[in-house]
Amino acid sequence: MINRAIAGVLPVVPRPVVRRISSRYIAGAELEDASYTVRALNARGKLATVDVLGEEITNVEETDTIAAAYEEVLAEIDRRHLDSNISVKPTALGLGLDLDLCKRHFQQLVHRARVRDNFVRIDMEDATTTDSTLAMYRDLRADGYDAVGVVLQASLKRTISDIGDLADLRPNVRLCKGIYVESSEIQFRDYHAVQNGFVAALEALFDTGCHVGIATHDRWLIEQAKRIVAKRGLDRDAYEFQMLLGVRPGLGDTLVEEGHRLRIYVPFGSHWYQYSLRRLQENPSIAGYIASDTFGRVLRPGRNGSL
Ligand SMILES: Cc1cc2nc3c(=O)[nH]c(=O)nc-3n(C[C@H](O)[C@H](O)[C@H](O)COP(=O)(O)OP(=O)(O)OC[C@H]3O[C@@H](n4cnc5c(N)ncnc54)[C@H](O)[C@@H]3O)c2cc1C
Repeated sequence: MINRAIAGVLPVVPRPVVRRISSRYIAGAELEDASYTVRALNARGKLATVDVLGEEITNVEETDTIAAAYEEVLAEIDRRHLDSNISVKPTALGLGLDLDLCKRHFQQLVHRARVRDNFVRIDMEDATTTDSTLAMYRDLRADGYDAVGVVLQASLKRTISDIGDLADLRPNVRLCKGIYVESSEIQFRDYHAVQNGFVAALEALFDTGCHVGIATHDRWLIEQAKRIVAKRGLDRDAYEFQMLLGVRPGLGDTLVEEGHRLRIYVPFGSHWYQYSLRRLQENPSIAGYIASDTFGRVLRPGRNGSL
């Protein structure tokens, strides 16, 4: 209860505090920070997907900068032989500004990824973007760009129907609960309804022969997914688990030890604020973090007395 109240006031928490308490979720500001993090993950048997933070962009020039940054990420992955692909938010490439521009950026990026034998995951954002994101994915596939996958959100009531609509493409899908709060007309709100929606969507995706990235830190769902994979006798390469950097790394270690593929989402860059807010809103210990960061500093002021 307290945590939920704190999550509601997060937007008024000073940015430096948000920055400090969310640092575990972000590799750093620079590509070399992301590269270092991916190397460390790879050394522990974990794959990665790199996200250039950029959802706060407001103009066309910034989309060019983000697209160029992703090309550098692909080059770095090649140069250092990293086991990583990339995850891209459509709004970071201009979905909210100019749909054609966004498509052109994705065409170029997916082309560059394929040339490098790599892969682009199109992240899914709030429900106002679902139709255009799925339509863009379909267009990319129709134009022969196949080194690309999408994300479906189990909390949306439309997801089972979207799986049916996409089935002819046998898409590579990341399945997650969905972080964006939508109206109850289009979204399951009850925790167990979301979990059941996730299981139903996972079964439907496997029924259509999709490769699924099972993106969750929910122990119950992970157990269900393992049960479904075992029951279907799926090959290790037919699916992978996915988790966010800084969230339940021990649970991830266990999955790797058990022989599952695990991919970690590694965000980096200067547009860190919105991503950090979302992660903190989901952190059950958020109240404690904010309290200890804020009050700990009040009790232990810095050398110049600043907070
Ligand atoms: C790889 C990956 C990619 C994703 N991509 C998208 C996307 O494209 N679009 C989208 O809408 N959503 C995306 N998400 C977010 C997802 O939709 C959920 O909001 C998020 O994963 C939390 O749901 P959960 O399934 O982990 O279950 P929850 O019930 O939220 O979490 C289970 C448990 O994990 C722990 N936990 C979860 N989050 C945190 C946190 N931030 N800090 C500390 N502990 C935590 C807690 O112990 C919690 O009880 C992605 C998630 C992952 C893992």
